[in-house]
Amino acid sequence: MRLEETPSPNHDERRQKVDLLVLHYTGMQSGQAALDRMRDPEAKVAAHYMVWEDGRIAKLVDESRRAWHAGLSGWQGDDDLNSRSVGIEIVNGGHDFPLPGKQLPPYPDAQIEAVIELAGQIIARHSIPQVRIVGHSDIAPKRKIDPGEHFPWPHLAAAGIGLWPPEGSGAGCVWMGGDPGGLNRQLGAIGYDISDVPAALRAFQRRFLPDAITGMADARTLRRLTQIAGAYAAASAPSSPQA
Ligand SMILES: [Zn+2]
Repeated sequence: MRLEETPSPNHDERRQKVDLLVLHYTGMQSGQAALDRMRDPEAKVAAHYMVWEDGRIAKLVDESRRAWHAGLSGWQGDDDLNSRSVGIEIVNGGHDFPLPGKQLPPYPDAQIEAVIELAGQIIARHSIPQVRIVGHSDIAPKRKIDPGEHFPWPHLAAAGIGLWPPEGSGAGCVWMGGDPGGLNRQLGAIGYDISDVPAALRAFQRRFLPDAITGMADARTLRRLTQIAGAYAAASAPSSPQA
């Protein structure tokens, strides 16, 4: 792993033990612009790491410190997520800098392999549960859409980073049709802040149904929601059977 020390002043003291990993895209014109911004004391933002397109990794803030990357956010009932998370910024122009034809810029393989290696080490170091590996949009659904629906979550999950069961696979694929509380309850059970349900639903779709970010609770979305809520519950159970 190619780590380059590029210290940032944008951090303070943690108030919690680390138990969350947050992935972002930089959403700027270039990696250098993002790196410069995260090292600028005036900007007051930084993640712990930034991963370049070619797989090089800039280390900005020590993991023992509270880096300022999550902002106002929540997950599984927790707030002040900067205090309890490690943040990784991944260089990608995202929605503000699409390719000609409006296509979102792809994440190169070398970059994703570096993210997988770095995330694997962070998860092991802090014993971060699978259900607490999140995108910025998951924890701030009203404000954020990064790392974007083009982020390869299935590829990460195949490498053991986060949960992303293929659609329609496994048990628990029962649609809770007719249960008006089911939608909110299941979004909340996964971890989403449901103070704005349509926003939470879009964030859920961006992560788990990336070809259908409609904000609509259609049958496919509800089936997927039941499947993911089931997978999260199974992964969170203290003594889940190793079937
Ligand atoms: Zn972000």
